[in-house]
Amino acid sequence: MKAILFISSLLLHCATAFGQSVVVETTDVNNFWIAFDSLKAETDVNRHEQIIRRHYFEKATPGLSEFIKLRAWTPHRFVETIAKHPTFWQTVRHKTLGVNNNLPQIRQLFKQYKKIYKNFAPPEIYFVMGYIETGGTTTQKQVLIGTEIAAADSTVNTEGLHPLVQSFISSNKGAFSIVAHELTHTQQKGGDLGGKRNTNLLGLCLAEGSCEFIAELLLKQNIDRPYMAYGKVHEKELWDKFKGEMHEKNTADWLYNGGYKKEGDADLGYYIGYTICKAYYEQARNKKKAIRQIIELEYENTAMLDSFLKKSRLLL
Ligand SMILES: [Zn+2]
Repeated sequence: MKAILFISSLLLHCATAFGQSVVVETTDVNNFWIAFDSLKAETDVNRHEQIIRRHYFEKATPGLSEFIKLRAWTPHRFVETIAKHPTFWQTVRHKTLGVNNNLPQIRQLFKQYKKIYKNFAPPEIYFVMGYIETGGTTTQKQVLIGTEIAAADSTVNTEGLHPLVQSFISSNKGAFSIVAHELTHTQQKGGDLGGKRNTNLLGLCLAEGSCEFIAELLLKQNIDRPYMAYGKVHEKELWDKFKGEMHEKNTADWLYNGGYKKEGDADLGYYIGYTICKAYYEQARNKKKAIRQIIELEYENTAMLDSFLKKSRLLL
């Protein structure tokens, strides 16, 4: 069997370690910049939407088509955002085109995942370009990356962007670490459901924290995010607060709150979930079994989540 990697318009065939096709698609990134340059060269603004439609939308890969459908993207929003944030686009361009450099690492990541978790079902990965609205989304079978956010880092000019996006980009380390996190969401029932998952705060934190923990195992390096550093320093007070709230579902102080938590104290639920998974793994004699249990947690079964937390011995 072959793995299929699309790089620009090239089609590369590479064998995988586990005999399944791998799709990593970056064509939409290249098409976006062709559309972007055509738009800049066209002085008649009435033709701009047509340029985005023809050079970008009509050439969409299945990943971009899915994104357009899911988020109801329109050429109008692209034209508007391109005009509004010129320095952002200028400084992020080479970062987005650099995602091609991640492809060998991503292939390696898939191999590594299969090694630690035999049920790993490889998703398709699509790097697409949005209008600075999302870093991506993950269904059961596809990782859809909003490359203009996911590939950005602190060197990119984010002036005037939404505070949530600014906060994310300021601590982002590039698209590769996002793929490492999202891979575990694709193994979870329903994909990346975020706050819509039918569970309590403990479950929501575990759904995110398990992705962080498995990413750390895959990458063999610590996850370098502000919430990890903040969590370690404020450990005791965080656990005291969390214990009182974990069976409710109010995420305001814990998850998806980067827009208004500015002191490194956003997304602390990632730290909580990560720490529980790590403790569970460390106490387990059979590590492979522990990995399977972490990945296959049933979030709707809140009694199972309580038992998982208890077995982690974290709160003893
Ligand atoms: Zn996540």
